[in-house]
Amino acid sequence: MTTTGLSSKERMAIPRQPMPEQDPVARGRTFAEVNLGYEVETAVLEATRCLACRRPPCVAGCPVGVRIDEFVPLIATRDFAAAARIVAEDNALAAICGRVCPQEAQCEGVCVLERKHRSVAIGNLERFIADWDRERGGSELSPPTPTGHRVAVVGAGPAGLTCAADLARMGHEVTIFEALHEPGGVLAYGIPPYRLPRDVVDAEVGRIRELGVSLETDAVIGMAGSIDDLLHAEGFDAVFVGSGAGAPRFLDIPGEDLVGVSTANEFLTRVNLMKAYRPGATTPVYDLQGARVAVFGGGNTAMDAVRTALRLGASDAMIMYRRTIEDMPARREEIHHAEDEGVQLMTLLAPIEFIGDDEGRLTAVRLVVMAQGEPDSSGRRRPEPIPGSEFIEEIQAAIVAIGNDPNPILRRTTADLDHTSRGTIVVDPESGATTKPGVFAGGDIVTGGATVILAMGAGRRAAREIDECLRADA
Ligand SMILES: Cc1cc2nc3c(=O)[nH]c(=O)nc-3n(C[C@H](O)[C@H](O)[C@H](O)COP(=O)(O)OP(=O)(O)OC[C@H]3O[C@@H](n4cnc5c(N)ncnc54)[C@H](O)[C@@H]3O)c2cc1C
Repeated sequence: MTTTGLSSKERMAIPRQPMPEQDPVARGRTFAEVNLGYEVETAVLEATRCLACRRPPCVAGCPVGVRIDEFVPLIATRDFAAAARIVAEDNALAAICGRVCPQEAQCEGVCVLERKHRSVAIGNLERFIADWDRERGGSELSPPTPTGHRVAVVGAGPAGLTCAADLARMGHEVTIFEALHEPGGVLAYGIPPYRLPRDVVDAEVGRIRELGVSLETDAVIGMAGSIDDLLHAEGFDAVFVGSGAGAPRFLDIPGEDLVGVSTANEFLTRVNLMKAYRPGATTPVYDLQGARVAVFGGGNTAMDAVRTALRLGASDAMIMYRRTIEDMPARREEIHHAEDEGVQLMTLLAPIEFIGDDEGRLTAVRLVVMAQGEPDSSGRRRPEPIPGSEFIEEIQAAIVAIGNDPNPILRRTTADLDHTSRGTIVVDPESGATTKPGVFAGGDIVTGGATVILAMGAGRRAAREIDECLRADA
């Protein structure tokens, strides 16, 4: 089929191309990537569906403003090198975004085809072209003129990495300070490799380092030096804080300290970052072989935890959520993948007590059935416990995935940095400027747990502002 010279009607008649996936039964026991990526011909066909709108809503729908209207038509005409260059210029983490962004709520959600024909699969095409580029060594980007300014970035998650990459491309000298031993933030310690393979993260972080960005790992700002030290003793001209929201929330119910109960953050970090599932790993994970595992929550973190539990040998991997499936904040694809793999989705249920044996090991959970009340501030119907509906479910492991808050270390060790009652840093939303001169912030540390692309957008806005301030001061 020819891919050029088609009328809009002919383009609209092409169905959206599905993402090929590993077989659900086989993949439920391995950490290999579930989505297999488009073949060349599938990508070209999917790109041909794009109507090349004159005022493309998809670009406005992308928090980092990727020129979707330019790179997608270039895939349709098979000019992959030009398409890859556009994506590389606009997005330092394109292969990651193509895999984990909630496109349905952003670029694809506003695609003009969405209402009648399903949107162009922009995320799948971004992944295709970023992978194509990476396999060929990556697009060469023109080197900037050095400005002589030095910027410190706290945290190597999507916000910090994007801010650092943009500043480096503007000619500034950038050093990232990362608390963990590996960069990536949630991309490394939270999102499992079957959704986001580690070599993809390593390659994109590697490209950012090739821009001249220095990376110091095992460097916890607030313990090993403070933000004030970076500005004064270390002589950085500005600091960007992208330290995320990595402190897990607890259910605060009896029995939460039993052996077998953990937070999703701890569980996923042990599995993803410390490779706890490998025989002989120095950081072990609770043995889930043949266990009935309940995960409490309905977001991406809960889906990642439950699907990981399945891969670690759980006999039953169950989501227990206090609202309905429609109310779950997880990406639709994650819910669909979890169900296909055999995860049980149990809704309108809340835990009220964990029950253990004489040795302090978890044996069961006491649950209460919820009814749907009036809509709350989120627009979803408030779950309310039904009196007398309590029952006990036997489980051997419980994983709590009900959200995260920022770690308090930076606000405790930094004067003049205003924060909210939730512990997030107060910023000007346009510029990312905090209340402390020379200090900017963005990502989950400002919004609370959100998305990769929103964190990246905040890093980009702050980089622009930092650049303007430094050039104005020069
Ligand atoms: C399990 C899980 C799955 C998710 N799945 C998705 C998904 O599919 N799609 C999506 O869009 N979003 C997803 N999210 C949300 C998304 O990952 C986050 O919104 C995003 O990573 C936030 O980026 P960030 O850079 O602000 O923070 P983070 O990614 O949290 O990175 C912050 C970094 O700062 C470091 N740090 C913290 N304090 C200090 C300090 N004092 N000194 C030095 N370094 C410090 C941390 O170690 C970390 O590396 C998921 C989140 C989780 C937890």
